[in-house]
Amino acid sequence: MFALFGNPVAQSRSPLMHNAAYRAMGLPARYEAFQVKNPNEAVRMIREENIRGASVTIPFKTTLITLLDEVDEDARIIGAVNTIRNLGGRLEGFNTDWIGLTRSLAGRMEIKGKRFAVLGAGGAARAAVFGIAREGGIPVVFCRNQETGKTLSRDLGCPALPLSRLDAVTAHCLVNATPVGMAPGVGETPLTGIGPGRFDWVMDMIYNPLRTKLLEDAAAAGCGVISGLSMFVHQGAEQIRIWTGMEPPVDIMTHTVREDLIRRSKMRSVKEKKNRDKGYAEY
Ligand code: NAP
Repeated sequence: MFALFGNPVAQSRSPLMHNAAYRAMGLPARYEAFQVKNPNEAVRMIREENIRGASVTIPFKTTLITLLDEVDEDARIIGAVNTIRNLGGRLEGFNTDWIGLTRSLAGRMEIKGKRFAVLGAGGAARAAVFGIAREGGIPVVFCRNQETGKTLSRDLGCPALPLSRLDAVTAHCLVNATPVGMAPGVGETPLTGIGPGRFDWVMDMIYNPLRTKLLEDAAAAGCGVISGLSMFVHQGAEQIRIWTGMEPPVDIMTHTVREDLIRRSKMRSVKEKKNRDKGYAEY
């Protein structure tokens, strides 16, 4: 038994992706999502129900860390866990978001020596900064809340500037680590005042929708674009490695989630069906 804990969880595609993986791997495993009120409830359920592995999502990634028996060094530096392994009642925390992000980026571009402008200073941005720096890239954070930015800067040794300074910095790749543009706010973009054309690559951590307004604008401006889908799949694949020690079927996981998102996107906007069908393969 594997599980996801968060609040809300109804929007998550993790159960769909994990269950498709276990079916393909021939494992007698089940993955279920539980909406819980607080992190203590999640930890209690993991112990009482003998859940072997759990994913953690908004808003418990940072608060749950103090309730675990052991926290992996990377997750401790990032300050957030998205993965728990239950070894006979001993709970260990990990962060696979940074691995998901760097695998997703590395599949499309060189990270080493390149500058990355990261939008946001929350848990996902911290994982991005950690991962990019670990792979030899140069992250710079742009955020609206300067206090959060200062904390990130102090913890991870990365400059954090106000969003208004984005036009003053040259970067190879822009990474959106804010929720701006996520369904249902699909018409929104985190870029205001400047266009995406100044970046060679634009990555959006959002995977629902697959093509956010930011990515639409970036593709139209001639940038390479990367949706959050491959990060999502790679962070989940790493969870499966941690929990089972087995190699997950990344292609099947990608296909399952992508098809589901396309179906949802079509349902959301039958009117735009023709445009949306065009070019999905690129994402
Ligand atoms: P979080 O901890 O809540 O952080 C969100 C960050 O975005 C904060 O810095 C917040 O600033 C900023 N922000 C929110 N609205 C903004 C706006 N209108 N303008 C500018 N900045 C804004 O969330 P998170 O866990 O880091 O997740 C961020 C995004 O990444 C979400 O969309 C999530 O779904 C996605 N994500 C994707 C994956 C994946 O596998 N693809 C994995 C993890 C996360 P304030 O502090 O000022 O509010």
